[in-house]
Amino acid sequence: MNDYQQKISELKNEKNALILAHFYQTLDIQEISDFVGDSFALAKKAREAKEQVIVLCGVRFMAESAKILNPTKTVLLPAPDAGCPMADMIEPEDVIKLKERYPEAAVVCYVNSAAAVKAVSDICCTSSSAERIVRSLPNKQIIFIPDKNLGSYIASLVPDKEFILFEGCCPTHNRVSEKDVIAAKKQHPDALVLAHPECRPEVLRYADYIGSTAGILKAAEQSDAKEFIIGTEITIADKLTQELPNKTFYPMTNSFLCPNMKKTRISDVIYSLENMVYEIVLDDEEIQAAAASLERMVSI
Ligand code: SF4
Repeated sequence: MNDYQQKISELKNEKNALILAHFYQTLDIQEISDFVGDSFALAKKAREAKEQVIVLCGVRFMAESAKILNPTKTVLLPAPDAGCPMADMIEPEDVIKLKERYPEAAVVCYVNSAAAVKAVSDICCTSSSAERIVRSLPNKQIIFIPDKNLGSYIASLVPDKEFILFEGCCPTHNRVSEKDVIAAKKQHPDALVLAHPECRPEVLRYADYIGSTAGILKAAEQSDAKEFIIGTEITIADKLTQELPNKTFYPMTNSFLCPNMKKTRISDVIYSLENMVYEIVLDDEEIQAAAASLERMVSI
């Protein structure tokens, strides 16, 4: 155990803390965490946490979800400026206007959104649960927010529903173009393409597998193929290279990087635990309203 790991282990015991990290965090952060997962797994883990303090190494909406699902706990976000540009693209007022325009529709809100937006939505979803959640709803019309790429992918899987898509996107996934995927395939013709549904539809057309981050990790592990082009944040290609040394992983492009997910450093985690900062504070009404749509997601 190195000095950092020793320090973190002492602080965790002293503060009764659980450290959760998203798969897109740097690998050194993943190594010092108690649990690493995608947003759905992190939400479930936070909900079940027995420890008094939850340290969320990820971006703000993930820490907010932890607070909403387990409100008596102290939730800390070690990098307080780690936001999500997609979550920031939509305001509660946008949702309210859409609801007025389409009163029969259910609002399905991707978890990559602020607590205030979840609070005015009917149900949340993750990329792994979106199809199942949309199918479970009696409504014919679905207002899907905020990711138009994930929304249009789910619309293609559930053609009997009518989708109203909000014009948001993940800048990291949306930046990758059809040209990028064609170039990657040309360079690695034997590789399978595994892509996240936050990518543009013209990129997903080339995918052999489309799924959440956890789904991509599983697909790579279970496949008999030896080479893969990874169509999601670049750390996943690094993680797979580390975990499956007999297979080869190429990022779809070298620019496939979310700067916000790279803001948390080990020193931030130590500082955060030592000083019990930066705490997520939400008002009770917002927690209750957002909890209803998040709990519906977790229970389906
Ligand atoms: S990868 Fe995209 S959706 Fe995820 S935190 Fe970064 S900007 Fe937000």
